[in-house]
Amino acid sequence: MDKIQFKDMNISFEIKKAIEDLGFEEPSPIQSLAIPKALEGKDIIGQAQTGTGKTAAFGIPILEEIYPEDKSPQAIILCPTRELAIQVAEELRKLSKHMKKIRILPVYGGQPINRQIKSLKKGVHIIIGTPGRIMDHMQRGTLDLTGVERVVLDEADEMLDMGFRDDMEFILKEIPHRRQTLLFSATMSKVILKLTKKYQNNPELLKVAHHKLTVPKINQTYYEVKDKMKLEVLSRLLDIHDITLALVFCNTKRRVDRLVRDLETRGYLVGGIHGDLSQRQRDTVMSKFRKGKIDILVATDVAARGIDVPDVEAVFNYDVPNDDEYYVHRIGRTGRAGKTGHAFTFVSGKEIYKLRDIQRYTKTKIKQEKIPSIKDIEKIKRGLLLEKIKTSIEEEDLNKYIHMVEGLIEIGYNSVEISAALLKKVMGEE
Ligand code: AMP
Repeated sequence: MDKIQFKDMNISFEIKKAIEDLGFEEPSPIQSLAIPKALEGKDIIGQAQTGTGKTAAFGIPILEEIYPEDKSPQAIILCPTRELAIQVAEELRKLSKHMKKIRILPVYGGQPINRQIKSLKKGVHIIIGTPGRIMDHMQRGTLDLTGVERVVLDEADEMLDMGFRDDMEFILKEIPHRRQTLLFSATMSKVILKLTKKYQNNPELLKVAHHKLTVPKINQTYYEVKDKMKLEVLSRLLDIHDITLALVFCNTKRRVDRLVRDLETRGYLVGGIHGDLSQRQRDTVMSKFRKGKIDILVATDVAARGIDVPDVEAVFNYDVPNDDEYYVHRIGRTGRAGKTGHAFTFVSGKEIYKLRDIQRYTKTKIKQEKIPSIKDIEKIKRGLLLEKIKTSIEEEDLNKYIHMVEGLIEIGYNSVEISAALLKKVMGEE
């Protein structure tokens, strides 16, 4: 299936450049459905939850339609929480960084209202806020929504759950009726559908279609880990499991580059592939990976899709993928030919919701594991070393070394002392 790409979308050069800077390689499924429709001016009901790229799905078309010269609110985004409002504002700022100055203001309860009033007076293009506080400003006359052309209800189901229904309806009634209304919600309850009937104009329901997929038999685990700890946890897992051929997935090109650099600094043999590399560069990395000259391949979904990755011992989802199907494609790279594969997923903050979705969709249970401590690593490494010693005694020709040990015994050392000294040397070096 040929998916629409960002470059084929009817969006400005400035936004495309920002998308490139963010390292988004291709639109997520909800983006490829929603962006073209929204650009046509249609009302949308998008069934998508956090982590699917829904913010950019409404953010890109909204930014595309802003007139920077007119400094009155042209778009309003309603969010259930302060955190989400801030997050959405940040994402829009990143997407608009090459545009003429676009003023984006998050307003939410808990923040001093006077400060917000001051910022509003300076002129704002896009308001992002919680319904209660937005309504408060409207009633005080500090927020004029008569020029609003686009409204987004982000996480509409959450807003209803939090008791914002009356506030939402109050706001929607006040905004000019000749407007575009985009509603996003993870679930579609009757109440939501009622709202869409009342406040949207012939909306299109956009839902990402799922094919039935079977998940191969793979040992799947996940770790709750803060983003800044992911590198450390990855290193620990690679070391503990003594993994020599691993594939690590990141969600963006920038994160691939960054992780390759960080792993190199830690002494791993690593290579990265993503869509910014030429075919030749990618071939070189792949050939090194196949020949075992690099042990870890870091990739984006798009780059990995086009290549024949050999069977790997473990797949790491350094980021939870933006789409359930990507998860299945990613982990399918391990556990082939009857071998047991491992799939490790790193979950940070709200990514847990995406993971729940993936489990529901793939009908598999992904087990949570504790992040191994340094002590655990030492214990496991010790176990591995003792195993290797046993195998060596049972299977290898040790005559030459036995002579050397006998030489040491002749001058007065005993075999326990000699073995202990050797172990200290080997473990110290490791
Ligand atoms: P959201 O669902 O909007 O909360 O987005 C989840 C995360 O995915 C955010 O960190 C976005 O920056 C990121 N993201 C959005 N679109 C894409 C894309 N097309 N490719 C990779 N990452 C994306």
